[in-house]
Amino acid sequence: MIGLISATAAGAAARDRVAAAWPDRTRVYDGPVGEAVRAAFAECAQLVCFLATGATVRLLAPLLGDKTSDPGVVCVDEAGRYAVALVGGHGGGANALAREVGDLLGAEPVVTTATDAVGMAGLDTLDLPVEGDVAGVSRALLDGEPVALAAEVAWPLPPLPVAAPGTTAAYTVRVTDRAVAPGEREVVLRPPTLVVGVGASRGAPAEEVLGLVEDALREAGLSARSVAALATVDAKADEPGVVAAAEHLGVPLMTYPAQELAAVAVPNPSGAPLAAVGTPSVAEAAALAGGGELLVPKRKSRWADGRPAMATCAVVRRPARGRLAVVGLGPGARDLLTPRAKAELRRASVLVGLDQYVDQIRDLLRPGTRVLESGLGAEEERARTAVAEARRGHAVALIGSGDAGVYAMASPALAEASDDIDVVGVPGITAALAAGAILGAPLGHDHVSISLSDLHTPWEVIERRVRAAAEADLVVTFYNPRSRGRDWQLPKALAILAGHRAPTTPVGVVRNASRPDESSRVTTLADLDPATVDMMTVVTVGNTATREIAGRMVTPRGYRWQDTRPKEAE
Ligand code: SAH
Repeated sequence: MIGLISATAAGAAARDRVAAAWPDRTRVYDGPVGEAVRAAFAECAQLVCFLATGATVRLLAPLLGDKTSDPGVVCVDEAGRYAVALVGGHGGGANALAREVGDLLGAEPVVTTATDAVGMAGLDTLDLPVEGDVAGVSRALLDGEPVALAAEVAWPLPPLPVAAPGTTAAYTVRVTDRAVAPGEREVVLRPPTLVVGVGASRGAPAEEVLGLVEDALREAGLSARSVAALATVDAKADEPGVVAAAEHLGVPLMTYPAQELAAVAVPNPSGAPLAAVGTPSVAEAAALAGGGELLVPKRKSRWADGRPAMATCAVVRRPARGRLAVVGLGPGARDLLTPRAKAELRRASVLVGLDQYVDQIRDLLRPGTRVLESGLGAEEERARTAVAEARRGHAVALIGSGDAGVYAMASPALAEASDDIDVVGVPGITAALAAGAILGAPLGHDHVSISLSDLHTPWEVIERRVRAAAEADLVVTFYNPRSRGRDWQLPKALAILAGHRAPTTPVGVVRNASRPDESSRVTTLADLDPATVDMMTVVTVGNTATREIAGRMVTPRGYRWQDTRPKEAE
């Protein structure tokens, strides 16, 4: 819950806007501000104080305890110009809250914690358990001192500005699921790599299951904080001891049908579970069902009071799943790059793309991002590189201009990718849409994009599609319309369209949409001079109903829609 506190009428107005926008997340604390702050501090995970920072600091000072448990506090000034993350920037989520409140109120978020200020991912914001000298290692990273990355298991971390391998470094970020204690000047990150398979007889006590799991991890030298899940057979999904053990470890319980487990090859099958639940292995098979390396073969709980053991467990290290984000950068202008695309660029530790696209967003990258850029024509190689880096367990962003799925990198990359990596697609504004908005409303009815590049597609195929579009009266946007070595295709395509459309049909030509040297004009099929078109251009040809109105290109949505039918939603 977010507690909201205000003192003045202006503060109350801003407070009410936040309360109205987030009715389920917020609670208004009325009354004298001192009492309101004290009550909210005790009851809420976060506070937004519509008060001066000075007043807020004085009220908070006696309440502050520990940064791992104190609520995050954001201050908004009287005029609603700034949302200041005052305390609990990372742990309390105040930095993120300041940005959210800023978005909502049109206030500038003010974030002063060092890692956020320089755009580095805070070591305590990686969504991984972290141990050791977080403050010391963070400071070293910020100060540009060499910090070694010792990754014993692969994990798709965001970028960290670590030293090149082989450099001597006083500080270390270690990524491991082994139960090592962090050394001096060391931070240990615990990726969720371990799956613990458990089997249990009916009524197996929670302590017995949990004790078994903890013993198994300890004796194998593994950290319980790297356990991602417990796994068992469907029939044990509600077995109280197993459910309680998962809850105690704070991990989900995954269950599998017996048949599925029976098909998993295991080193230690036995007759007892086969008779009871229909698979010769529960613990080992459930742990191995998602793939991985068996670190602890099946073991049984200790016999208690002379009765037989009631639980079994096995531990598997699952293969790291890398992350491939396929990110469209939009047509060029920074404000046409989506916030999601920006977030993915900053999430990736490896960036793969054409050099000129990398230049477009280089300033957004976090320190430590490994950039693999290549020149025109190396598409296949870029796609392969991106997938290979993701398979190694990295977080990779593969970028393309416009939408990365439109005549771009998504297809070759995903043709190459297997299901052992996670893929995230971020749509971008493709050239046809960027141009359409500049020209007016050329795409108001059915439309098609056709690339005139016959580098990878035989001209006969392209021509057949242009003919079909001409016959079907579709608005057509030509991508890759003309280059120095490819100059006859555009006149040919326009001639095919002219066979079905009047010479006065409007044609929009947009060069470098949304880039500094953008230019555009609306002309006609008869008047278009192909020599004015190059590879930075898209050409949009109207259908038989498209008109030029006040210098803009407008394709009606259909006569019936406009003239006779009641207006429907757009
Ligand atoms: N993935 C890109 C298209 C790549 S094909 C997208 O979705 O936009 C390259 C062609 O796209 C260029 O030859 C040109 O025709 C067109 N194009 C890309 N960006 C453009 C822009 N900003 N202005 C005009 N045309 C553009």
